[in-house]
Amino acid sequence: MRKKPLDSASKPVENFVEHPKTLAELRAGIVAGITKAADLAASYYERIAQKNPRLNVYLSLTKERALAQAARVDDAAAKGDPLGPLAGIPVGIKDVLVMRGAPATAGSKILQGYRPPYDATAVSRLEAAGAVLLGKINCDEFAMGSSNENSAYGPVRNPVDTERVPGGSSGGSAAAVASNMAVATLGSDTGGSIRQPASFCGVVGVLPTYGRVSRYGLIAFASSLDRVGPFASNVRDAATMLSVIAGHDPHDATSSPAPVPDYAAESDQGVERLRIGVPAEYFAEGLDPEVRACIEAGITALQAAGCTIKPVNLPHTKYAVPVYYLIATAEASANLARFDGVRYGPRSKDSATLADMYRHSRDEGFGAEVKRRILLGTYALSAGYYDAYYLKAQQVRRILAEEYLRAFNEVDAIVTPTAPTPAFKLGEKTGDPLAMYLADIYTVTASLAGICGVTVPCGATKAGLPVGMQVLARHLNESTAFRVARAVEAAKL
Ligand code: GLN
Repeated sequence: MRKKPLDSASKPVENFVEHPKTLAELRAGIVAGITKAADLAASYYERIAQKNPRLNVYLSLTKERALAQAARVDDAAAKGDPLGPLAGIPVGIKDVLVMRGAPATAGSKILQGYRPPYDATAVSRLEAAGAVLLGKINCDEFAMGSSNENSAYGPVRNPVDTERVPGGSSGGSAAAVASNMAVATLGSDTGGSIRQPASFCGVVGVLPTYGRVSRYGLIAFASSLDRVGPFASNVRDAATMLSVIAGHDPHDATSSPAPVPDYAAESDQGVERLRIGVPAEYFAEGLDPEVRACIEAGITALQAAGCTIKPVNLPHTKYAVPVYYLIATAEASANLARFDGVRYGPRSKDSATLADMYRHSRDEGFGAEVKRRILLGTYALSAGYYDAYYLKAQQVRRILAEEYLRAFNEVDAIVTPTAPTPAFKLGEKTGDPLAMYLADIYTVTASLAGICGVTVPCGATKAGLPVGMQVLARHLNESTAFRVARAVEAAKL
């Protein structure tokens, strides 16, 4: 047999994957006094020191705060005081969520040096539950992107294969869990930014219902779409995280007053007799055959677990990507107007006039993708185009949402691939923004509709790249999505 030439394809894959213990196991050790939260935090910082130089996940560490919190947990454990659901659990925070006194860059140069004076609600709830906050995690600039290559601080590498992207925009949050540089993390999802990177890195990611988790302290991208949600290595841990961060917040007028269930306990309920919808529109042209095979195996596993599988129709799905990119860019152009070199971040030097100072500060501070979106969004909102683009997009958004609600009259959950392909190579799509946008096809519709979902690992390609299944459920039905995801996880595909 002829030997293959030594090309880049035969280079061994560099892999940093490491599975953390489960949150419940770690917490039990801390409660019993077998594990010290301080030692656990130290071991995570050691692992970060080893892996971060290669993976570029953490942008800054919040060691002082983490160690103080760990000490508080250890004291409480020693005294036998009651401990929170996340006692001593090392957690990382996407750098679009603010933490008091810690740098908050949103992956952008324009926020360099900004240290917010307050905590995001999701962050303070984690801490109140006993979590140890390790640091701030890399992401695409202002959460705009699908590969993490838009960060002003360099791309994150995928722990499964360092030549590949971790997905985006919360690529660092997914990579942190996959490489065990955190037990769980927070990310944000506007059009897929939790689900797609979780799928690319082989971890669990949650898109909570719009309004389920407060956006207070989340640096805004597109306010009618932005959600905060958790990543974890398994479904139950992700459910525990969501119960901690969810719930009404007077600081966010769009936050839901609905009571917060114990999602982890509810996820134990099994899936027997659940009706699972499979939309043909999500299995059409453009879906990688290996991804399709994984998702089909997942659907077979659900059937074996006692679910009924039903076809459902979501015929307007093809409009979701253009609608999303109209609405998201329009809202972004308004939200990003506040970055002007005056209130936050660096100011351009030597400008003769105020207008010049704004222009130069924004020109120097924003990256190419952010500028592209501000331009697109400003155009869509401008007089004469508003009705043709923005208003039309809002009308189609309503139709997309109604289509889901109709489907949910017949099924309890809908399953789809999370992304059309597994993780792609670094640099593969950077020259073609449209190709990058089109790959968001399976995630943006749920974003527009406001419904919830979970992405769960569902097998891998022959090359070992993880594939995620997206499980969608109707508004405030996270528990159903968790139950289905648990069944897929249990199948060990
Ligand atoms: N990839 C999508 C975008 O670039 C989604 C980003 C997100 O969810 N924050 O807009």
